[in-house]
Amino acid sequence: MTLSDKDKAYIWHPFTEMSDWCADHHDPLVIERGEGVYVYDKSGEKYIDGNSSIWTNLHGHNDLRLNQAIIGQLSKIAHASFLGTTNEPAILLAEMLVNMFPDKILQRVFYSDDGSTAVECAMKIAIQYFQIIGQSEKKRFVAFDNAYHGDTFGASSIGGIETFFSRFKDLSFPTVRLNSVDDLKSVDAKEIAAIVIEPKVQGAAGIRLWPDGMLQELRRWCDLNNVLLILDEVMTGFGRTGKMFACEHEGVTPDLMCLAKGLSGGYLPLAVTMTKESIFKTFLGSKNNTFYYGHSYSGNPLGCAAALASLQIFEEDRVLDKMAKKIECLKISLNSLKLKNHNISDVRQYGLISGIEISQEFGNIGSDVCYAARSYGLLTRSIGNTIVFMPPLSIEKQQIYDSLDAIDKAINVIVS
Ligand SMILES: *Cc1c(COP(=O)(O)O)cnc(C)c1O
Repeated sequence: MTLSDKDKAYIWHPFTEMSDWCADHHDPLVIERGEGVYVYDKSGEKYIDGNSSIWTNLHGHNDLRLNQAIIGQLSKIAHASFLGTTNEPAILLAEMLVNMFPDKILQRVFYSDDGSTAVECAMKIAIQYFQIIGQSEKKRFVAFDNAYHGDTFGASSIGGIETFFSRFKDLSFPTVRLNSVDDLKSVDAKEIAAIVIEPKVQGAAGIRLWPDGMLQELRRWCDLNNVLLILDEVMTGFGRTGKMFACEHEGVTPDLMCLAKGLSGGYLPLAVTMTKESIFKTFLGSKNNTFYYGHSYSGNPLGCAAALASLQIFEEDRVLDKMAKKIECLKISLNSLKLKNHNISDVRQYGLISGIEISQEFGNIGSDVCYAARSYGLLTRSIGNTIVFMPPLSIEKQQIYDSLDAIDKAINVIVS
């Protein structure tokens, strides 16, 4: 059996219609290695990683500094339990993360493994917090239409994408769902523990931008109504929007912050939920109030070492200083692509996060276009008819041009 045959025989892929995947004519792309913004398949073909390996990679693949950090830690220990012991990379990373917010406002760092668990943990902290302070009626969440916060049951209960979550609705807890910040007028805050939102831009919804000022309005409403604000920056965190965190665009800080994907530079699974000391303190002093939540790999030293190295690269390469030019270049390129290709109905962009929507008159061809783009040297994914282009932050101008050129050609091939 070839590798592909074995894959088709034994593997169940995420978010994948497996009969399509296993069909005879489908030859799965086997990724073998990466270098900078490029990934290479088994046969040596190279592709620009236009989706940052599902929104995780920041500084490119096979970065020596990240490799060395992981290898250095590996030569000491790969994993040690965070239940009852601690480790240096996790401690130093927590310190760095705390120092990234004004006045160390989010002073406590809780480790987990991925975006879903970071959100799950934030939700449980919020519920338990209100129980501890004697307001246990506050146990509902407010979330938004088309939201995506992960696939574990808590995170999917607040998710708003029908295709993913409607099947489990009966078993999910009820959520107060909003379309826009105006809908808050009709919300009775009495039972609400927290609002959860992907700030500035919803990713999985198809790269949908929120209006400016919305975060500030949410912050105000939460403060007035004794409701916690949970920001899910799993996708927007670590520079993708042009600032380190999306909430900085509106000068807003949350009560709980969820970070994952880019936290380790996209090298290893690692997540954190950060919270204010005032929330943390209510959990102290009684076994009754202990936060009984955790994972086997919490605070994993390899992941934390990678994250520390990634943050160091931000400084060393002055990553954020270089973003404005790249974002401008992407903006100009997207606009000229839209002018040039009449099959594109919309382009949306926030920072280096972008979506190119193909006119619905052609039906659902997003995945066919992405498939065709491979032969022009671009690897990416679509959400419906929106082609996502969210490259590593280390991408250069020419590679942005090459990527959009590939999308242009791929659309033309598929619609012709
Ligand atoms: C990807 C994503 C998640 C889930 O993260 P996983 O690591 O896939 O569990 C949660 N929230 C947002 C905004 C995401 O983009």
